[in-house]
Amino acid sequence: MIIVIDGPAGSGKSSTARAVADKLDIQYLDSGALYRTLTLMYLESGKDKTKFFELLNRKSISFFYEEGTFHVSVGKRDITEQIRTVEVNNHVSTVAALPKSRQFVNNLMHQAVQKETWIAEGRDLGTAVFPDAELKFFMVADTDVRAERRHRELKAQGADVTLDEVKRNIIERDQKDSRRKKDPLKKAPDAVEVDTSEMTFEQQVDFICSRITNKFETQT
Ligand code: C5P
Repeated sequence: MIIVIDGPAGSGKSSTARAVADKLDIQYLDSGALYRTLTLMYLESGKDKTKFFELLNRKSISFFYEEGTFHVSVGKRDITEQIRTVEVNNHVSTVAALPKSRQFVNNLMHQAVQKETWIAEGRDLGTAVFPDAELKFFMVADTDVRAERRHRELKAQGADVTLDEVKRNIIERDQKDSRRKKDPLKKAPDAVEVDTSEMTFEQQVDFICSRITNKFETQT
């Protein structure tokens, strides 16, 4: 079974999905982390697309979720922290817009979710990747609220970045993600919209958990 949460950057998808996964004891998949992984590989290929796709074919990408952290490795190298830098933030929407990148990440995700129950979050999961997901959510929040959340996160990681820079990056990524030709950021018609601007974190988690629990109950 698969449950998906889509939405723009900083809308609260990742933290909420992780808390829901912990509470309901289900698997968690962070599709943005996979696009970030490809972006790191693209940057390490000197932004040369031919070298980047060669590298992608040669290396294996693995991931797992444990105690609040979605860990990613390329071969034996753990890159969990390297994929969260400002440099990766600035290039990820470009790499994610490449149809070959999308195909690659979609294959990885489909292979992963074959067994057990998963909550996955991203931009196009309810529309393009898992159109038959059992439950779909679309999280939104005011741009200022989202920028403040991301700024807090980056500062906590020790990044030297201003709130204004974070806000500009979020606006730019949202535009690129919504306007790209291949699988843009879009609410699926059957997704439940959750506006988190005025919700506490606990309210977001409780709302999604109760929808999932209701769904499980009506199915059994
Ligand atoms: O969720 P996160 O901010 O980590 O995602 C990073 C980037 O990955 C997004 O800005 C978007 O460009 C891309 N992405 C995507 N499709 C997804 C998930 C993420 O294009 N399903």
